[in-house]
Amino acid sequence: MPTLAPATAASAAREILRRLHDVMAARTNAQTKLNSVVQIIGEALDSEVCSIYLLRDGVLELYATRGLEQNAVHVTKLALGEGLVGTIAEKVQMLNLAEATSHPDFAYKPETGEELFHSFAGVPIVRRERAVGVLAVQHVDPRRYDDVEIEALQTVAMVLAELIAAAGLVDGRTSGKDARDSGAVRLTGLKLVEGMGRGLAVYHQPRVVVEHTVAEDIEVERHRVYSAFARMREQIERMTSQAEFGVAGEHQDVLATYKMFAYDEGWSRRINEAIDSGLTAEAAIERVQQRTRMRMREISDPLLQDRMHDLEDLSNRLLRIVSGQLGTAAQLGLREDTILIARNLGPAELLEYDRRRLKGVILEEGSLTAHVTIVARAMGVPVLGRVANVRRQIAEGDMVLLDTSQSAAFVRPSSPMEEAFDSKLAATQRRRAEFAAMRDLPPLTQDGLRIELMVNAGLRDDIAALDVTGADGIGLFRTEFQFLVSATLPQRERQQRLYKDVLDAAGARPVIFRTVDIGGDKALPYMNDDGHDEENPAMGWRALRLSLERDALMKAQARALVEAAAGRELNVMFPMVSEPWEFDEARALFEGQRKWVAERGRELPHAIRYGTMLEVPALAEQLDLLLPKIDFLSIGTNDLTQFLFAADRAHPKLAERYDWLSPAILRFIRRVVEQSDAAGVKLGICGEMGGRALEAMALIGVGVNRLSITPAAVGPVKAMIRSLDAAALRAAMPQWLAEAPRNMRDVLARWAGNRDVAIA
Ligand code: PEP
Ligand code: MG
Repeated sequence: MPTLAPATAASAAREILRRLHDVMAARTNAQTKLNSVVQIIGEALDSEVCSIYLLRDGVLELYATRGLEQNAVHVTKLALGEGLVGTIAEKVQMLNLAEATSHPDFAYKPETGEELFHSFAGVPIVRRERAVGVLAVQHVDPRRYDDVEIEALQTVAMVLAELIAAAGLVDGRTSGKDARDSGAVRLTGLKLVEGMGRGLAVYHQPRVVVEHTVAEDIEVERHRVYSAFARMREQIERMTSQAEFGVAGEHQDVLATYKMFAYDEGWSRRINEAIDSGLTAEAAIERVQQRTRMRMREISDPLLQDRMHDLEDLSNRLLRIVSGQLGTAAQLGLREDTILIARNLGPAELLEYDRRRLKGVILEEGSLTAHVTIVARAMGVPVLGRVANVRRQIAEGDMVLLDTSQSAAFVRPSSPMEEAFDSKLAATQRRRAEFAAMRDLPPLTQDGLRIELMVNAGLRDDIAALDVTGADGIGLFRTEFQFLVSATLPQRERQQRLYKDVLDAAGARPVIFRTVDIGGDKALPYMNDDGHDEENPAMGWRALRLSLERDALMKAQARALVEAAAGRELNVMFPMVSEPWEFDEARALFEGQRKWVAERGRELPHAIRYGTMLEVPALAEQLDLLLPKIDFLSIGTNDLTQFLFAADRAHPKLAERYDWLSPAILRFIRRVVEQSDAAGVKLGICGEMGGRALEAMALIGVGVNRLSITPAAVGPVKAMIRSLDAAALRAAMPQWLAEAPRNMRDVLARWAGNRDVAIA
C-alpha cells in the first residue's frame, strides 16, 4: 500500500470526504450508501479490503465490504471483545497490525476469505463517545499502516458515524470499554443535601452532538473556529477577572488550566488540521477531542488526567460556542425524572430547573453552606458533592439512584442495588410519615421548655412548608431568591405580590422578611456591579452594604413590604450588618417608606419590628449598642462561621474541616445569647447549623430557644427536642465549654446516646 506523505494526507482525506459527502447526499438507501463507502475508502487508501461492521443488538455485524466474500455480509457476526473487530469496539481503540493472525485476539471467520490478507487496521466508529461500529482495512502485504493513514481512517469513521445515525442504524446497545459501560458503579462523595432520588443522568452543560461532519467550505469552517476561539478566550478572561465562575477556591486552578489550554497553539493547530482534511468546525473539534480521550486512557497520573478533563471541558465549551448550542439543560427543559450532573452550579442556575423533574444533583465540587446547597435544600433536592471523575463514570441517560445519607450514587444500578434502594426509600417514607404525624405536636422538651421551631423559606413553593411541617412561622424569608429566579430585576409590584401571598399563607404565624442579600455567590446576572471586580465576594459588596448604596432598590423593597403587610405585623431583618449605624440607616430608610405610605392615606402595618442578622463577628463587639435598638436578632451561622474561622463557606476543601460543634462557635453563640437575654431581645438561629439534630441540640444547650431551619429538618429536629432534657444539657454545657475538648461532636453525641435523645 502506498504511503501518504503528511502534506498529502489532508488532501487525501479531503478527497475521500468530498466523495463521501456526495454519497451521503444521494437519495439511496443505507445499504447502498455503505456499499459505496467501502469502495471509496478502499480505492482512496489503495487497500484491498475495506469493511464496515455495525453493532446490532449488541453484536457486530459485517454490513458492507470490498475485498471480503460478499456472502459474508450480514452473516459474519462478532461479539463485543471477539476477534480484532470486537476488541476495537469494546475498547473503543484502534488496532494497527502488520500481521493480524499473530494478535492474541485474532478470530478466524472462514466465510470471509480473509486468510489472504496479512496487515490489518481498524478504527471504532464512535457516536456519543461509544463505539457503534468498526471500520477496517486489510492488505496482502504484511506491514503496519502509517499514522496518516490511520488518521484518515479515523476521520472517515467520524463521517460514517453521522451517516449511520442519519440512516437510523445506530444500535441502542452501544459499547465502549469505559467505566461508563462496565455495569453498575457506586460513586461516593460528600452529603450536601440529605435525601434520595431516582432519575436519568442529565448534564447541566449538555454535550453537543455533532450532526454535520463534512465541510462545504473549508475557509468558512476555519473562520468559525477562529471566532469561537476568540469568544472562548474572552469568556475565560472574564471568568478569571470576575471570578464569576461560581465560587472561589479550586476554581482558580481550573481557570488557570483553562487559560493555558485556551491559548495552546498545538490544540488550535490540530483542530485546523482536521478542518483541512474536510471536516466541519464541530467535527474537527470533536475529532481532536476523541484523540485526546484515547490518549487519556493511557495516562495513569491522576493529576494529568484531571488536566485532560479540563481540556475536555474546554473542548465542550468550544463546541457549544461554535455550534451555537449554548443552553443549559434547564433551558432545554427536563423531559424525565432527572439526576443533574455538573462540576458546580450557581444558585440561580439551579433555580432554573423544573422542580418536579429534578430528583437530585451530583456535583464534582460543592460545599455544605454554598448558596446553591441552601437553595437545593430549600427545593428539597438531594445533593451529593465532591464526587470525583463524575464525567468518566456517568453517561448522559444513565439511570442513577442517589442516596446522600449513604453519601453515594448508584449508577446503572444492579437489581440488588435497586431493591436495597427501594426498601430504604420505603423506610424513609415511613419515617417521614412518622414525622408528619408529629406535625401538630409542640416542640416541647422533656422538661417542658417550648422551643420555637420556624422554617427558612424564599421560594413561592416554600409557603406550603408552613402547613406541611406545622412550623411556628417563617424565621428567615430570603427575599433574594425571587431576584435569583428572575431574568430581570423584579418590579416592586411583583415583590409586593409575593410578600402578600406569604403573609396570607402564614396567617397569624410570624414571618421574618430579610431584605435582599445579593452579591457574593448570589450574583445577579442582570445587575452589574459597576465594574468592581471582587477577589473575595463573600466579604465584598453584598447584602446590606449593596442595598444601602443602591437605595432605590432597597426603597422599592421597603415599600413593597410595608404595603404588603397592611393591617398586619411586619418583621424586617437586615443581612450582614457589621456596625450599628448600618442598622440605623436601613431602619431610617424603611421608616421613610412607612411615612410615604401613611401620607397617601394607605393602610399601614399595625407594627413594624426591626431586627438584624448576626453573621459578621464585629457586630458581636457592639451588641451592647445595637441591642437597645432592635426587636430581634438572628444568628446566621453559615456566614458567621466562615468569618470566625476565616474559612470560605463555599470552598470544597474546607467543607468538612471546621465543625459547627467546635467550642469556639458554641462559646461565641453562648455569649450572644446571654447578652440578648439580658437585653430582653429575642434571639434565634437561622443558619443551616440549626437544621441538624445534634447541632440543634447543642444550640439549645447554649441557651437558644428559637430555631429557623430548612423545612425538611423540622421533623427530625422536633423529634430531638421532644426527647431532650434541656435543663440537664444546659447544666452540662458550661463544663464542656470550659474544657473545650478537641472533639466536641463526640462528647455531645455520646451524651445524647446515653440519654436516648433522638438524633437521626
Ligand atoms: C447565614 O449566613 O447563616 C444565613 C442564614 O444567610 P445566608 O445563608 O442566606 O447567607
Ligand atoms: Mg448569610
